[in-house]
Amino acid sequence: MCLLHQQVLPMLIHLQTHMILPAALAQTNFTYNRMHTKITSIKSEPESTSASEHRVFVRRKRSRNPELVTKTEPQDQKFTSILPDIEEFAYGKPNVNLPLTKSRLKTQVKSVNPPLNWEKVLEQIHKMRSLNDAPVDSMGCEKAGTSLPPKERRFAVLISSLLSSQTKDHVTHGAIQRLQDSNLLKPETIEKADETTLKNLIYPVGFYTRKATNMKKIAKICLMKYNGDIPNTLEGLLSLPGIGPKMGHLVMNVGWDNVQGICVDTHVHRICNRLGWVMGTKTPEETREALQMWLPKEEWVPINPLLVGFGQTVCTPLRPSCSLCSVNELCPSAFRAATTPKKKLPRKTKPEEL
Ligand code: SF4
Repeated sequence: MCLLHQQVLPMLIHLQTHMILPAALAQTNFTYNRMHTKITSIKSEPESTSASEHRVFVRRKRSRNPELVTKTEPQDQKFTSILPDIEEFAYGKPNVNLPLTKSRLKTQVKSVNPPLNWEKVLEQIHKMRSLNDAPVDSMGCEKAGTSLPPKERRFAVLISSLLSSQTKDHVTHGAIQRLQDSNLLKPETIEKADETTLKNLIYPVGFYTRKATNMKKIAKICLMKYNGDIPNTLEGLLSLPGIGPKMGHLVMNVGWDNVQGICVDTHVHRICNRLGWVMGTKTPEETREALQMWLPKEEWVPINPLLVGFGQTVCTPLRPSCSLCSVNELCPSAFRAATTPKKKLPRKTKPEEL
């Protein structure tokens, strides 16, 4: 006993104090932390969280620090809530949350890389055009008032552009001839002229009544703001009644020799889409923006009369002469373009007409 008290007992006490007790205490503390962690997570859990989500959460959290658990949980939930549906990764799906702004529209129609073989196609169209004259060659807007002094000629080109919308070249040309013969192709005389007289002279251009009204308004603006000349900026031209981008660019090119954009009319719009030079543009304005992304600037002016004439003679809106066209092997629309006009719905008869 004496030996036991003196040697063995102090050893046992030492062991219990320095090794067994801390391990036991540590085990107790770990158990407490796990319990505390679990309790904390349940407390902070939203009511809607399912049992399965709770299980996953408890198994993930190996930290013994309850603070960390409470901080990480909302972040996980937030991150989960902003993950998009898998369908949102679908290729080409439009982002419906973005507003349809003008800049977004521009982005959609951008075509930066020049189309394959465009120079070859252009050269072939030049050759085809050189074989035959087209109405645009002698009666286009840019031919108006060629015998007049520069200031009067600019005004003639402006009025010719105004009359040209929805009207064939030879009809516009005839109207301009009649106005010039009646000395009514100057702002001073138009401003004083009777509107009915103008209307009769320009008939049968499309929308001749509205165009006669706009002629008088334009003449007045030119006299009051531009000293009888026409605006020398695109913005100024577009502010005139009845003048749109197509006409504005044409007048800037012809009247002021200032090229700010391509003049895209229905022929240019149609042919560029048929040739695949622009992809699926819906309006001449969209075509202009897409074409300007890759067509060299030195082609911006000649491309209009070239394609307008080509559209009047070969690549017509209906039944284009693909079999005679020398680019039919390079054109994605060859022998596939429209051959019949779109069917018009019968006009509803107004009750008073019955
Ligand atoms: S092949 Fe036909 S659709 Fe193509 S550019 Fe020539 S005429 Fe037009």
